[in-house]
Amino acid sequence: MQNYNADFHIHGPYAGGTSKNLCVEKIAEMGFYKGLQISPVGDLTHKPWFDDVFSKLQCEDEIYFYDIKTIFGEKRTNFILSTEVQAKDRTHHIVLFPDKKSILGFRERIKSSCRNLDGPMNGRPWLSLNAEEIAKICVDSDLTFGPAHAFTPYFGVYAHYDSLKIAYGKYFEDIDFLELGLSADSYLANDILELKNTPFLSNSDAHSFWPHRLGREFNTFQLNKPNYYEIEKALGKKEGRDLILNVGLNPKEGMYHKTRCKDCLTFYSLEDAVKLNWRCPCKGIIKKGVYDRIKEIAPKREKYDRPEYKHILALAEIIAIAQNSDNPLAEKVQKIWWDFIKIAETEINVLLYLSEPQLNEINPEIAKYIIAFRNDYVNYFPGGAGQYGKPIIAFSELEKQKNELKIEDQMKEKKYLQKSTGSSQRTLFA
Ligand SMILES: [Zn+2]
Ligand SMILES: [Zn+2]
Repeated sequence: MQNYNADFHIHGPYAGGTSKNLCVEKIAEMGFYKGLQISPVGDLTHKPWFDDVFSKLQCEDEIYFYDIKTIFGEKRTNFILSTEVQAKDRTHHIVLFPDKKSILGFRERIKSSCRNLDGPMNGRPWLSLNAEEIAKICVDSDLTFGPAHAFTPYFGVYAHYDSLKIAYGKYFEDIDFLELGLSADSYLANDILELKNTPFLSNSDAHSFWPHRLGREFNTFQLNKPNYYEIEKALGKKEGRDLILNVGLNPKEGMYHKTRCKDCLTFYSLEDAVKLNWRCPCKGIIKKGVYDRIKEIAPKREKYDRPEYKHILALAEIIAIAQNSDNPLAEKVQKIWWDFIKIAETEINVLLYLSEPQLNEINPEIAKYIIAFRNDYVNYFPGGAGQYGKPIIAFSELEKQKNELKIEDQMKEKKYLQKSTGSSQRTLFA
């Protein structure tokens, strides 16, 4: 048995808002440097993308893989086959597939429920089926499935239903997992009684292959080999296979964590938002955050045994903070990122396992920030209403406490009193 870092949720070039350069080669290469042993390939109900993907993937022992040339020689990235579908109520669901044939079978079943399955924007097909009907297809075809980013507004199942039992009807018991989404973690979602027996997945939902997106959230599984059937066993805790760790962003960094006005970005408590009937004095719509949504559906705190959930920051993000840059893809940030990878092989190694002397040898200035991150000296100006949160790294417990007070003050700011320019978040906590 071996540990595998796995991310199950990514899109292809045919979904809205995704990088048009997404391809198997790049996901395989960057997945390797990130430290994933199982990388995702998604949107596979889209035939042109499906054909492209399967012209490149190889399969042996029911493991799909792609061999890449890296700066360390030839390496292998294993893949999990998946897709995300949108139900008629706009909720999103993830389906995992054992093989090529099962994708084609699923495609046949949903074909008549989608206007143009192979259309240019239909990587994530919008089906005229509800969650229960989608679940039925998955159960009939023996596929692994569950809700995607279950708590986020617009597309999360819990944004539309107070219970998964209402959404999935008689197939509720057949849900194999729940994807937490970037704005939630196991600590928050653990309060929900009906999820007592449902494994939580932390997946990236990446729209590009860059390592600050791909694998920004991942799961560590204990498996015999990296294929679908082993993952299926692990989700059911069978024969010693198991999900042993979730790793992801602090939910405060997620785009929908806190309740905020979409226009002026003022923060609201749930009570105040209700009093205002979800309208900000600036006339903007107040968008309910995942934090408050979970409080609504799980007012009582319940605790069950779960794998540990480890909060992480992307290495490029840490380097960007140290360089006072907003852009993890900036040339100087990427250059330093490669300096670390050349020694450590993978980003996950750098973040979690490289010793302090080794980090210092590569780049003492950045090492300071990585060590501070490991010590949990990180504050977050929380995200909400579609804006990512912003991590702030401190170098002592005292500095962290001071930063927290500063953030709390800034969150109290009533931005609608100023003339809203739509870019007011730029001025926050520079
Ligand atoms: Zn989605
Ligand atoms: Zn407003």
